[in-house]
Amino acid sequence: MGKSGYAGSIKEITGLFKEHNILPSVQRIKVYQYILEHSNHPTADQIYRALIKTIPSLSKTTVYNSIRILADNDIITELQIENNELRYDANLKLHAHFKCTICGTIYDIELSEADYELIDKKIKANGYHVKQHNFISTGICSTCYDRKNSLHNV
Ligand SMILES: [Zn+2]
Ligand SMILES: [Zn+2]
Repeated sequence: MGKSGYAGSIKEITGLFKEHNILPSVQRIKVYQYILEHSNHPTADQIYRALIKTIPSLSKTTVYNSIRILADNDIITELQIENNELRYDANLKLHAHFKCTICGTIYDIELSEADYELIDKKIKANGYHVKQHNFISTGICSTCYDRKNSLHNV
């Protein structure tokens, strides 16, 4: 369970898929549900390895295809945080990302409309047109920071 604590019910997910004209196959529902419930921004490989345990007939191609359909319909977003590694996010609220370089966790940092507008304004002032924002900061998360400090103090 992700820190959002939100688990989409099959009924809600099926409804969302219908709105976007996505055929609600079991595999697609499971892929979406996994991304929704794991706010740690899983990779396609992590999604596959987790779901194969409950759907033994699942293929990697099906996982990739499902992700593609969900991303093309903008119900998940694709993030590139490290080179060559795409991660997936079902949090569609305005947010930035913070990656801990020690434990590797990627945290969502909520942003306000005003935060976005400020950045938008600056970009537009240069005559550029934004398609997608992708804010990533790196550093040490509070858990790792506390652990490091407590080790030093012993
Ligand atoms: Zn950490
Ligand atoms: Zn996120």
